[in-house]
Amino acid sequence: MSRPIQARIDLSALHNNLRVVRLAASARVMAVVKANAYGHGLLRIAQALNDAEGFALLDVRDAITLRDAGFRQTILLLEGFFTQDEVPLLAEYQLTTVVHCQQQLAWLDAYPRKNGLSVWLKINSGMNRLGFRPGEVPAVMERLKGHRAVRDITLMTHFATADEAAGVASQLQVFNQLAAPYRMPRSLANSAAILRYPEAHGDWVRPGIMLYGSSPFADVSAQQLGLQAVETLSSELISVRELRAGDSVGYGASFRAEHSMRIGTVACGYADGYPRHAPTGTPILVDGKRTRTLGRVSMDMLAVDLSQLPDAQAGSRVVLWGDGMPVDEVARAAGTISYELLCALAPRVPVIS
Ligand SMILES: *Cc1c(COP(=O)(O)O)cnc(C)c1O
Repeated sequence: MSRPIQARIDLSALHNNLRVVRLAASARVMAVVKANAYGHGLLRIAQALNDAEGFALLDVRDAITLRDAGFRQTILLLEGFFTQDEVPLLAEYQLTTVVHCQQQLAWLDAYPRKNGLSVWLKINSGMNRLGFRPGEVPAVMERLKGHRAVRDITLMTHFATADEAAGVASQLQVFNQLAAPYRMPRSLANSAAILRYPEAHGDWVRPGIMLYGSSPFADVSAQQLGLQAVETLSSELISVRELRAGDSVGYGASFRAEHSMRIGTVACGYADGYPRHAPTGTPILVDGKRTRTLGRVSMDMLAVDLSQLPDAQAGSRVVLWGDGMPVDEVARAAGTISYELLCALAPRVPVIS
């Protein structure tokens, strides 16, 4: 007998979601697999997405893991190299790198090889996180175009509000104006821009969250977008009890029963990656029926309301999120976004596919 919590990865849902990307955009697909493929397992997801033209992630060691596993696609380092030592690895493993700052240019200058590298030049069109300012771009382009270490250049930017009412128009205009003189591939779109802004698709799209079956929009559900949950986090009730009026539940006694009621204890807590900030009322499935959490989430357990579930008992199946319980709804209740919940899945949770 082991603890009943597990995360099941549904690869057919992943294939469905890649199809949704392909239907929305005719560009090449750079599947974003950073943060251990949003918590789903890098190699498992890359294998299932072998049809994608590229993979994007952060850590050069993860990139090498993909190469060593036999992946031949473009592998893009989204933040480029972090030290000069990493530059030779780019050529050795045929990794594509973002270049976003002057320091990286200087490290490239110090690299003696010819004709090696594919570079994605990151333009800061308004996100103000990474990338060259618009005024720097022409000079940086001149440096990179003639650079002995650089074989080809793709122009990229990243949107701050593709998922919100503000949209992409002003960033798109900045980018298009800067990119206009150059005949080079372009990449702009994250999931939200793929779904909402065809004019921003460019040559490479960069879907992340939609591949995993979650909506990038607060006001549109994954189901409405045709997306299917890839990860289902499930567990079981390990204890069931009756509360009398006035009894409280869990740390801080933050939930107090107004009348007698039945509750269950679920083997899942914040040490599994369930958000501790999920308040009383966060939706959850028990035996396939929707109910709510009660009181504070503990490290290893949380409580659920079984008032409407007279047949639930120890061993009843609980779905924290995934199939039948959109992670987007759980995230909203907990005041966060699905990205954070998926990425936070704890290493102690067995992942099965
Ligand atoms: C994470 C990331 C993406 C993917 O974003 P989603 O909203 O998950 O689709 C795309 N591009 C860059 C540069 C990213 O960092």
